[in-house]
Amino acid sequence: MTDEQDDGGNKAGEQERLVGPGLDAAQAFAVCGDALTNAKLDGAGRLEQIMQAQGLLMAAAGPGHAVRFGDLVDRLDGEKAGALKGMMPDWASPPGLDALRFLDKDGYTTEDAYDYRYEVVQVIRAAQKIGRLRGRVTVTDLQGEYKQETVYASLKGNFYHVHRGNLVKHPAVTIDELKKLRLPPPAMDFYEDIPAHMSYQGYWFRCPACKWPMKIQVHGHGQRAQGSMQCLYPWHAETGASYIFTPVRGQIPVLDQAIEFRTPDARHRPLYTGTVPGIPEALPVEGYKALVRDVWRYTTIPGLPEVRLYEVLRERLEGTGAWVRLWPDNDIYDLLVARGEQETQQTLFAVDFKDYRWSNHLVSKLRADGGDKGKAGWIVVPDHRKSQIPQLTEECRRHGMKAATATDFLELVVETVTRGAAR
Ligand SMILES: [Zn+2]
Repeated sequence: MTDEQDDGGNKAGEQERLVGPGLDAAQAFAVCGDALTNAKLDGAGRLEQIMQAQGLLMAAAGPGHAVRFGDLVDRLDGEKAGALKGMMPDWASPPGLDALRFLDKDGYTTEDAYDYRYEVVQVIRAAQKIGRLRGRVTVTDLQGEYKQETVYASLKGNFYHVHRGNLVKHPAVTIDELKKLRLPPPAMDFYEDIPAHMSYQGYWFRCPACKWPMKIQVHGHGQRAQGSMQCLYPWHAETGASYIFTPVRGQIPVLDQAIEFRTPDARHRPLYTGTVPGIPEALPVEGYKALVRDVWRYTTIPGLPEVRLYEVLRERLEGTGAWVRLWPDNDIYDLLVARGEQETQQTLFAVDFKDYRWSNHLVSKLRADGGDKGKAGWIVVPDHRKSQIPQLTEECRRHGMKAATATDFLELVVETVTRGAAR
């Protein structure tokens, strides 16, 4: 796998750093991430915000350490992971920085930039609650346009599960299909026209894994022109949602696979949410709407493995007397496995599903929260985040919780329930 495997460092000291002085610098880098991802900002607004981040970095590093504006902009522009390395003195450097990349080779904001901002906001909030926040950035500064709570709040009501499931299963739809979903009015605003960087000559293509539009790029001119397309979620692109095409004016692009499909082994197949083989068909931009990027990344993407785990569990628990519920009452957990009803209900497993790019951020959040807010006993991560498990297990132990990948968890639940043992 790629740099996800090192997860920005697993050393114990680094966990402390993010709730300590490292959090100041992390906030500053999250301000950079916001400057590059916030659609409401124009060029001048972005530069102004990066200047603000420069000030925050200087303050975090203290006297005697200069952070030059030009250097910061150059490093943000660096297309390789590691461009930010050495920017801050070691003691004030947040973990995860070495693997962070804000812009890709086309100057387009990366998934990293989004994830960094989002994850640091989760840590800031948790740190704020226990009075550990020293930085000058407020959460509202960094919230982005579509904060997760607003998204979930807009879906609340009797059909919450149905609506949330629809955002997972239908991230891009025709205008007619959108009407038929009967989402609450505020949630209709999560859908927008297919963005320009995801269309070519009036067409767009779904990622075979998540069904959201893929990013399209054309390099070079005339005969030498080469088109490429990939899903913005790195795991999807790595498992096969990556294509090339030869641009011909007035013709619908014909796609070729850019990399070999990665296929899961038999054990991981039931919960596999990577790309499935096949060439996606061209769809007209006209008449289609797609979820905004924030909602796609923080509702659709984690929702796919959540829904899959739920569906497979439901099937395997049939006839055992145990049952599973997805996003149960008031969303306290993501998944609940129990037996019995009402007074006799016995919780077997209460799960929070987490898809963090940097496990350090999740660890910092868990530490500040003193465990899971909703009192889930388990943190479950998608199978492709397996490398996060040792670090998460260590942190979970402090809070009487456990961590597992989706497949490990599935097998454990089935084994426990069939054995009849409760936990
Ligand atoms: Zn995708």
